[in-house]
Amino acid sequence: MIPKKDGHPHGHETLRARGFRLTEPRRLILDVVRATDVHPTAAFVYRRVRKKLPRVSLATVYRNLRMLAAEGFLAERADAAGMRFDGNTLPHDHFTCLACGRLYDVPARADRAVRARVATRTGFEILNHRAEFYGRCGACRRQTGRSPVKGQRRS
Ligand SMILES: [Zn+2]
Ligand SMILES: [Zn+2]
Repeated sequence: MIPKKDGHPHGHETLRARGFRLTEPRRLILDVVRATDVHPTAAFVYRRVRKKLPRVSLATVYRNLRMLAAEGFLAERADAAGMRFDGNTLPHDHFTCLACGRLYDVPARADRAVRARVATRTGFEILNHRAEFYGRCGACRRQTGRSPVKGQRRS
């Protein structure tokens, strides 16, 4: 079978049309990642999927996450916590809270000036770029004082 080159994968129908079998674990894995905005690790997805499929292994979950990402249904990113998966496949940037470690989506800005400047300096053709923001999130800012771990409260 020759895979079609047109179009972007957007849903389960496309999965089937391209011959990518949407197995039960794969659909559950996709649903788990899309249902949360925490940018889960494979271990997080595994714990959720295992509730419905007790015999699934972490290796299977991980392998399917990578395959779904390769097919464009999920985004993946490597950071200090390991590989994380993102159900939001639209262009967006990320904010990492340095106090609680949470990773938030922030809207991406198509900043042509930045791309043009980098292109001029390096001679590279810039097709895309992403920005990483760091700081303290709203929940952490509401905790008064300079110490984000005040009161030893965990959430
Ligand atoms: Zn925070
Ligand atoms: Zn994201």
